[in-house]
Amino acid sequence: MKQYRFVVDYDCNFTEMIGSIRRFKEYTSGKRGILQIFEPNCQSDLIQKDLDFLTSALPNIEVIGMTGHGALSRETHSIPYRVCTIMFFDSSDFQVNVFDCTDISPLEAGELYKPILAKLTDIKGILMMSSDFALCPERFIDKINEFDPSYVVFGALAGTPTMGDDRSKVFHGTKIYERAILTVAFMGKDLHIAHYYNLGFRPLGKELVVTNSNDTGIVYEIDGKPAFDIYRDHLGIGMNQYFFENTSSFPLFLKENGNPLARVALDYHKDGSLAFATEIPVGSSVSLSYSTADIMLDEASACALKLDDFAPEAVLIYVCMSRRMLMGDNLAELEFEFFENICHTATWGHGYGEILHADGLRGFLNASCVVIGLREGEAPDEKDRHRLPPTQKYLKAYLEDYEDGFVPLPVRLVNFLESTTKDLRTAVDQLFLEATIDPLTKIYNRRALDHFINKYIENQGQYKCIAVLMIDIDHFKNINDTYGHDVGDLVLSEGCTAAKNQFTQNDIIGRWGGEEFIGIKPNLTLEEAREFCEDLRIKVSKVEFEKAGHITVSMGLSMIQPGDTPASLLKRIDDALYEAKETGRNKVVVK
Ligand code: GH3
Ligand code: MG
Ligand code: MG
Repeated sequence: MKQYRFVVDYDCNFTEMIGSIRRFKEYTSGKRGILQIFEPNCQSDLIQKDLDFLTSALPNIEVIGMTGHGALSRETHSIPYRVCTIMFFDSSDFQVNVFDCTDISPLEAGELYKPILAKLTDIKGILMMSSDFALCPERFIDKINEFDPSYVVFGALAGTPTMGDDRSKVFHGTKIYERAILTVAFMGKDLHIAHYYNLGFRPLGKELVVTNSNDTGIVYEIDGKPAFDIYRDHLGIGMNQYFFENTSSFPLFLKENGNPLARVALDYHKDGSLAFATEIPVGSSVSLSYSTADIMLDEASACALKLDDFAPEAVLIYVCMSRRMLMGDNLAELEFEFFENICHTATWGHGYGEILHADGLRGFLNASCVVIGLREGEAPDEKDRHRLPPTQKYLKAYLEDYEDGFVPLPVRLVNFLESTTKDLRTAVDQLFLEATIDPLTKIYNRRALDHFINKYIENQGQYKCIAVLMIDIDHFKNINDTYGHDVGDLVLSEGCTAAKNQFTQNDIIGRWGGEEFIGIKPNLTLEEAREFCEDLRIKVSKVEFEKAGHITVSMGLSMIQPGDTPASLLKRIDDALYEAKETGRNKVVVK
């Protein structure tokens, strides 16, 4: 395969670009080619003119594209250069589809894509562009994931140079879509696609919880207060036209399947809500985050080295503007150069968000740099490649700015904030432990159990089923009366240590009070839970306590049912336990 890149209005104009393309031997020999345009201009009539011109001049080339935030290049962060890339394939193929979402949801569009995918073979990756940030790209990707979770989906959300004025569009051939999802499935036995996700943002300060949001990306409240307050309180900024510039270097940070994610607020509303390009569900734990040029460039240079191993023939980079705002133009250019060193036709584009569905990432990213390498056939031998080691150049350029041993003020400030955050988080963890752990038995206390019972009832839809059991020691008063309270205490602490080992990390076990305990086991059927209880009952009866000898326990077991409240659930297990006591003790009763 072969890639070419043109920065139109910078390297050339459209006529010159078309002339070059028509002279390429890949074009004259009729190879399949796809031209991708990142268009900073959102005026439909101008785009239409370009598309009409391009498609008539290059009839054998498929033209796709999206509006962006302006080309990511040289001097200013938003300049009206169109960045175009054309990729020609030798043995591979591609198929473009567009789903107009004027009248259908991304979910319905995804459903329509499934039968199309079913007809394609050897799909190695899917490029996706979607317009209008109210179109949640994740819903569409969820459907691809349902069809085949192994497909890598990458790309970007179209953007607009002016924040708060979403006139983003995608286009295919001569048709411009105001509200659509565009896909390109790349296929080929010999085609290899490598993907890399660079973020570099790290959480800072206290963890907060989203308390009111909707599914179009509006977050109304965080920690019960207007969402804007977190930026006003922590960054000291007001509601004005510099909102994006002021906040984009401090995105919200959260985790998805263990992967770090950032969410950049695109805009604010007078009511104090913030607009994001995708939903941040109620209950999400978020914090502010930060990064530095060092962190980002280190990550990017490590990524470039990995990309070098892959030996790409084409490179597509989808990157967020917030990185340029944080690093400044010169260092942001350096991030770009790392990848240009590997593949000089590497092409950058940026919109309102990056897309990568792979390695547990659901799909929608912010503040990131997604790098895609494409290659047909095997990588050439190491000795046949001669690429610059990217780190050398970076270190040289970066170190030139600072004398040895001097740490720039922003880096010192960030170090200070980072260490303070670490101290605070340790203190918070300690407080959490003290507030939720029973000091005698070292398992959860009643306060924590109340919290978990509520949580599991609320989120029961996420689990196949959830078993809850209550355990009460039989005739425990006798132990106190016979051997004294201290021996009773030892039985409780040693007994809990032994019983705790029967529960897994996903389970909850806590002290409900006195010598009564509650266990929660998600994803266990009633029969499995009954077996678990019987097994636990027998194991406890076999424990030999130093002075008190053996004990037995009675148990009440029930499953969380739709419509349960904590009270209705506790009543059932309490009734079950009561029946176990009434009918002879040392047994498990299910209600
Ligand atoms: P059964 O449950 O089989 O009906 O009989 P029981 O003797 O266990 O009955 P009950 O639940 O009435 O008694 C619980 C006893 O547990 C009463 C109390 O003195 C004792 N107890 C509660 N908390 C502690 C504690 O922290 N340490 C000690 N040593 N004893 C405790
Ligand atoms: Mg009791
Ligand atoms: Mg008892």
